[in-house]
Amino acid sequence: MKRITRQRKAIERIFTKLERPLTVDEILAYGRKYVTSLNRATVYRTLKTLTENGWLDKVAHPSFGTLYERSGKDHHHHFFCRECNRGYELPGCPLKIDDAAPDGFVVEDHEVFLMGRCPKCT
Ligand SMILES: [Zn+2]
Ligand SMILES: [Zn+2]
Repeated sequence: MKRITRQRKAIERIFTKLERPLTVDEILAYGRKYVTSLNRATVYRTLKTLTENGWLDKVAHPSFGTLYERSGKDHHHHFFCRECNRGYELPGCPLKIDDAAPDGFVVEDHEVFLMGRCPKCT
């Protein structure tokens, strides 16, 4: 139990510190800096718990796969860097989506992913 708490604390710390959506691979790599024995199964288990209790949200990207981010944020979008494969959170929503669909369609939601190169990779 103590060990599980320590691993969970480490994973929570990563999200608080990095403030961007993370893949399981990233969480595993960063988490091992705090808890060297951290393994993939534990990461998956912890992510499941943190998602179920509402601390994390899933971000499903069509090509980058499933990422996780802190829950409770206002509506926003993500940027994915093709060079370093990092995901970033973008502030707010610049889209006027109501006009995007023809008459007769009711837009209820949208998902937009931006892709390119991040400041570190330009
Ligand atoms: Zn980059
Ligand atoms: Zn939006």
